[in-house]
Amino acid sequence: MADYQAVMMGSPIRLSLSQENPQRAREVFQLIKQQEALLTVNRADSLLMTVNRAAGRHPVVVPNAIFQLVSLARQVSLLPGSLFNLAIGPLVKAWRIGFSGQCPPPSRQIDKALALVDPHDIQLDPDTHSIFLRKPGMEIDLGAIAKGYIADKVCQYLQSQQEPYALINLGGNIHTLSRPVDHPWQIGLRKPFSSPHTLSARLAVSGRSVVTSGIYERYFLHQQRCYHHILDSRTGYPLDNDLLSVTVVSESSLIGDVYSTLLYGMGVEQSLAWLAHHPEIEAVMITRHNQIICSSQHHFQCHVLDLNQ
Ligand code: ADP
Ligand code: MG
Repeated sequence: MADYQAVMMGSPIRLSLSQENPQRAREVFQLIKQQEALLTVNRADSLLMTVNRAAGRHPVVVPNAIFQLVSLARQVSLLPGSLFNLAIGPLVKAWRIGFSGQCPPPSRQIDKALALVDPHDIQLDPDTHSIFLRKPGMEIDLGAIAKGYIADKVCQYLQSQQEPYALINLGGNIHTLSRPVDHPWQIGLRKPFSSPHTLSARLAVSGRSVVTSGIYERYFLHQQRCYHHILDSRTGYPLDNDLLSVTVVSESSLIGDVYSTLLYGMGVEQSLAWLAHHPEIEAVMITRHNQIICSSQHHFQCHVLDLNQ
């Protein structure tokens, strides 16, 4: 097995291949770079920012794959009661969590952003593959699902190259291709708000994606309150509920990324009820009381490590 590392999308990226193959690793990192150049909203020249800059002015034609990704994100945003909102960009920019934001923005700035986050105002034309944001100032933000989408692309590429097994870790967003002979991949789940090496649990998986949405990844403290990066476009504030993180184990990393955010928004009870009817998606939730709650474990095994739960 050989490990390769890089820093991209503002995150550490780790690739494990079945054997030394620096050329293949370079190609994977190149693929990630290309996709990031399409999807990031942290650079003015990305494809998505071209769509955003044309808000209120004109539609922008995008490649089919990106059109399908935005269509999926819009559909999920319009599900009844969905916390997920692809039009959340103006609110994300107002909060600047993880960048320079160290105190909540003034309420008039939040109100201004809230007037620009209705997913109905994103117009998609399936004939021309064009995207039009109706109001000036609107912004699509795919930060919640871009890594999952890219992780799937990496696995598809490695599969096409007949790589027997591999693991890609995109800043905590993990996808695995098959597994090394005789043992599954072991994936650590970080203990929320502890040092990066302290684990709450270890998951054994093979050929599945493991994606976490957690409020301890990017946040700031202000007057004893924790303001994190999963925002509620109904209130304009970070979502307040009983969860610290949701980790989704699924076949597709994009779907895992979508559901880690959606289930985080649903909270424990509703998530468990939903998961009971969707056996293809499994989850491990960590609550504010540091309880670890697993749905089913058909496609992975969860070993709880932190016994002081
Ligand atoms: P990460 O892996 O970076 O922690 P998540 O998958 O948990 O990311 O998604 C958080 C990111 O999604 C935020 O940084 C922001 O860009 C975006 N975001 C925040 N709130 C929402 C929301 N309600 N719906 C969709 N995307 C959101
Ligand atoms: Mg996500």
